[in-house]
Amino acid sequence: MKTNNETGCALCNSTWGEYYRKIDGQKMLFCCNICADIFEDMVKKVKEETGWKKLNEVELHGNYSTSRNCVARHGKKQFNYYFRTYSNGEMMEFRSKDENKPI
Ligand SMILES: [Zn+2]
Repeated sequence: MKTNNETGCALCNSTWGEYYRKIDGQKMLFCCNICADIFEDMVKKVKEETGWKKLNEVELHGNYSTSRNCVARHGKKQFNYYFRTYSNGEMMEFRSKDENKPI
């Protein structure tokens, strides 16, 4: 899986930390365990919503305080969603922005 954060943490693009976790069998770089938790949880939720077994790419915009608007891609399909988390990394809100469109 690729994300649009190419220089640092897969979730927030920070470069100050080095924390690795396997997501879907792939070793990914995060700045800390909280970002890894958020990312892992988010991937799980996207899969639940879409029924996809795997994501090829995730594009993330925004941050902790403004919330995040994202696009996940699987082949030619894409899924637009929005999520917010608490400061401990717990999911506060997760919703599809494609409500009217079948996935
Ligand atoms: Zn991070």
